[in-house]
Formats: sequence, structure tokens, C-alpha cells
Amino acid sequence: MNKPVVGILGGGQLGRMLAASASLLNISVVILDVGDNGPAKQIVSASGPRLSHIHGSFSDPEKIRELASKVDVLTIEIEHVDATVLESVKVPVHPSPSTIKIIQDKFLQKQHLLSHDLPVSEFLQVDSTVQSLHDAAAKLGLPLMLKSRTLAYDGRGNFVVRDLSQSKDAIAGLGNRPLYAEKWVPFTKEIAVMVVRTTSGDVLSYPVVETIHKENICHLVFAPLRSRDPTLASRAQNVAEKAVQCLQGAGVFGVEMFLLENGEIFVNEIAPRPHNSGHYTIEACETSQYENHLRAILDLPLGSTALKVPSAAMLNIIGTTSDFDELTAVQNAALAIPGASIHLYGKSENRKGRKMGHITLVADSDAQLRERLRPLLEALPSGNS
Ligand code: ATP
Ligand code: MG
Ligand code: MG
Repeated sequence: MNKPVVGILGGGQLGRMLAASASLLNISVVILDVGDNGPAKQIVSASGPRLSHIHGSFSDPEKIRELASKVDVLTIEIEHVDATVLESVKVPVHPSPSTIKIIQDKFLQKQHLLSHDLPVSEFLQVDSTVQSLHDAAAKLGLPLMLKSRTLAYDGRGNFVVRDLSQSKDAIAGLGNRPLYAEKWVPFTKEIAVMVVRTTSGDVLSYPVVETIHKENICHLVFAPLRSRDPTLASRAQNVAEKAVQCLQGAGVFGVEMFLLENGEIFVNEIAPRPHNSGHYTIEACETSQYENHLRAILDLPLGSTALKVPSAAMLNIIGTTSDFDELTAVQNAALAIPGASIHLYGKSENRKGRKMGHITLVADSDAQLRERLRPLLEALPSGNS
């Protein structure tokens, strides 16, 4: 390999794991992030003028151009970047800026998926007015999910409107951001598939997983998805692959989906980058989502996405207070469990709702997995298990 240099917009935990994977392949990484010592920058030495990290925002045009001038290819670990500037840089950008633009506006994303015949819940644009919410409720029913079109993560752009008396609070709660409304999906499970797309547009999917959210934040992932429906896994992979095929550019994509009682699948949203539901691939698959992301954007042959263990789970370690000591018990529990791998993100502050790390568990059977998981759940920071 001829020592390519990859520039990453964003320096959080996804950038950290991407950089860790790059180091094994002698791929150099340059990071653009506001923090001087965030999760990704901490683990990558910034040696020499070309390889020094950039201190700045991933939505600052000048900083993005500076990053582009130092690297062979640009990629992202977060979609909330300035995609217009990315359209004008001289190096390849993966996924393509057009994809980032579609995905960073959830309303455009839903329209795009619908126009490619993908199954999505009914949705419509709303203004930040009580009347507009009343009109939306008349069409979509209640409860409805009011969402910010932009800058959403961990459910922080969502408001569940159960009753129209909440309209004012919902609008106030989502601030001055552009909004849209989605029909409520009475899902039985949330599922996800990581899909890797090559520069020539071929796609390869990882196994289907079950994701369990708590207060809108991913809490647990189980791989593979267990179901009595023998067609479910391939149907979900087909939907995910079709969704990624209608986008441009290379890399991994996380496709979040809802499974309904009758077996129907709806696409919730797509992340154009490595995703929390794919952390398990580091220990549980032949090739991790991070390595395959690098392989895809550098035009290297993709690695196998197959599971290499019978059963796996990923548990997020999420802060509940500012006290780091609250994380000790779960870390210690993991140290005592065979098949448990701890990933800590090196964040300088702990906070309620903040992803501080995760633990991957692998096991020979689902029964063994559950047995290994129990002490971890019991040791989670209070209110988290
Ligand atoms: P992420 O951190 O995954 O990027 P996000 O802030 O973009 O999250 P969404 O994925 O849109 O938010 O929604 C968060 C969660 O809210 C979903 O995982 C799901 O549990 C629930 N949810 C979203 N849309 C709907 C819907 N239309 N009906 C019912 N529940 C929904
Ligand atoms: Mg999202
Ligand atoms: Mg989501």
C-alpha cells in the first residue's frame, strides 16, 4: 500500500475507531475538529506539516479547504458538515457531497428515499406554527413525530406530539430549526444494516442487527437479528442495499429501519458513515465497518462482512452525571467477562446522555451471550440498565 493520507471531518469516537483501523493498514489520518485533544486526535500522532491535525470546525469552509490540501481523500465521521464546500475541493470526497446534502436534511432524505420506491412512513413538511401542526395531525393522526430537518442526533431533534395541546411546547422545544412531521410507526423492533458501497457503486451488506434504544439513544445492539420469519434478514438487507444504491459515493452507510408487526419494513434514516449499530463488527465480523470504510474509499478490495462468532452484542456506556466514577463498575465488570471488549472514547467530560464508550460481547450461543450480558447491565450507571 502506498501510504495514502485520509482526511476526516470530525474527531469523535467514530473518527477514533476509523483512525485506529487506519493505523493497522499504514494509512495516515489527518483530523479536522474543534477540540485539540478529542477522541480521534488523541490516538493519531500529528507528525510533520502534512500530517498535522487542524483545529477548527468541520463546517468552516477555510478549514475544510486546508484539510483537503493535505490529504489524498476526504471522508466524514459526522454528516453535519459544510457539503457545499466539499463540492469544490480538488480531492475525492466519500461519500459524495450530494449524498451528504440529501442525508443532512431529513426531509430531503425521506423525499429521496420515497422517489426511489423505498418504504418510508408517511411524512410532510410543517411550519413552526400551531396551525401547521394541527393540519399535520389531521392528515397523519396522533401521536405524530415532529422532527427537525437538520442537525439531529440521539433524538435531540425529535418531539413526540401525543396531544395537540403540546403543539406550542413542541415548536419551542425544537427551536427555530426547519421542521417536518412523520406518521407514528408502531414498530415491534428497530433493526439496522451496515452497507458498504464501492467507488463503482457495488454494495455489500453486513448482517441484520436488532437495535434497542432508550430515551432515543442506542442502548444495545444484538447480532445477528433473531426472527421466526426466515425471509426477514434477506428482505431487510435488500431494503438497506437498495437505499444505499440510490446514493452516490463510497464508504459504509448505516441504514436504520423499523420492523412492523406484519413483517413490513420501513426505512427510518441513513447515516452516511460508520454507525453505532456497526461497532460490533470490530470483534464479531471478518472485517470491521471501519476497515471496510477505508477499503471502500481507497478503492481497495472489500473484506468479508460475515459474522465470525455465533452471537454478539454491543452495549453503549452512556453518562448519567458528570462523575467519571459512575463508569467504573461497568468497566470492571467487563474486565471479568470472557468475550468482552471495552472501548473507551477518551472524552474529557462525562454528561447525561453522552456516549462515553461501549462494550462488545461475543459468545458461542445466545444463551451464553445473555449470561455474559447480565452483569454488565447490572453494573451500568444508575438509571441506565
Ligand atoms: P440518531 O442518533 O440515530 O441519528 P436521530 O436524532 O437522527 O437519531 P431518529 O433516528 O430520527 O433520530 O429517531 C430516534 C428514535 O426515535 C428512533 O430510533 C425511534 O426509536 C424513534 N422514532 C423515530 N421516528 C419515529 C416514528 N416516525 N415513529 C415512531 N418512532 C420513531
Ligand atoms: Mg440520525
Ligand atoms: Mg436514528
